[in-house]
Amino acid sequence: MSINKESFERVKECLHHGQRFVLTTHVNPDGDGLGSEVGLASYLRDLGKDVFILNVSELPDNYDFLNTDGAIKTYNGFIHRETILTADYFLILDISDWNRLRDIGKEIRKTDIPKICIDHHPQSGEFGDVQLINDQASSTGEIIYELIKYCDGKITPTIATALYTSILTDTGSFKFSNTSARVFRIAGDLVECGASSEEIYKLVYERQSTNKVKLFASILNRLRFEENGRVAWFTISKESMHSHGAKLSDTEGFADYPRVISGVEVIVMFSEADKSRTKVSLRSKGNYVVNGVARKFGGGGHQYAAGVLMEGSMHQHVKSILSEVALLLNG
Ligand code: 5GP
Ligand code: MN
Repeated sequence: MSINKESFERVKECLHHGQRFVLTTHVNPDGDGLGSEVGLASYLRDLGKDVFILNVSELPDNYDFLNTDGAIKTYNGFIHRETILTADYFLILDISDWNRLRDIGKEIRKTDIPKICIDHHPQSGEFGDVQLINDQASSTGEIIYELIKYCDGKITPTIATALYTSILTDTGSFKFSNTSARVFRIAGDLVECGASSEEIYKLVYERQSTNKVKLFASILNRLRFEENGRVAWFTISKESMHSHGAKLSDTEGFADYPRVISGVEVIVMFSEADKSRTKVSLRSKGNYVVNGVARKFGGGGHQYAAGVLMEGSMHQHVKSILSEVALLLNG
């Protein structure tokens, strides 16, 4: 479903009327959340607005190139209290779930300041006061592009780089089923406006630590299979992250790799967020919709890339999640 003109008009009015904007995205931000923030923030700054980007998680190293002006800050309840309370609008990007906004979500929610949500996740209820939501969009960055175009804004090289990063990362480098013809047209335009496809790819994907790659190698050696090879799964303990000198954010991308295996339909990655919480990532090659499994355990996500953070240790959850995946494949 595409977004109607009235919704764009409403958001455009907010952007023009407001002076102070606080932008945020989900915990453990990815290229789409960050690219959307930087793209929209840059556009607003070009309009002469005061813009603050506050995230609950630290900026992952490989996205540092988006933060050339140091505008992306890690949220701190004390330091940023005033910034939150004096905002005219909140722009909540790539997320429609208070839980995944953690502490900043709690603060934002307490205020009467209008909340604008721009997102491409399937919705499970009302979120925010003004919405720009299209679950058919490849990425939130794609929606921000449409918004700037709707506002007759100029796509500067900074904006182009940020939005290209959004699209690149959320389409798995233009290979997932969300890579529509429109996505290629937008990406083409962004390149024309100054995004360097080669440079951005290198910055995002070709600066990974040796520790991360060694951790990944250890996982490949421990891959497990179920349902006649249609399900691939693996676990990553805190201990193995430590012993490789890697951290939880280093696991980004691991769940996608087993797609290369012939016959694999669904991939499940279990990682130890800490001793009492397990992060589950679900991926599908397109024949099975996996966000229902995530929802069943309190999480959510896209049809073919979903997840949930569960209370409890990994070994507690492996069996129940894999049984649910088996039901999905055999149902
Ligand atoms: P990842 O496995 O890369 O962390 O997440 C893949 C997708 O699953 C995300 O884009 C997000 O939509 C969704 N997701 C991951 N973790 C959670 C969670 O704890 N709750 C919800 N609602 N969605 C999640
Ligand atoms: Mn996204």
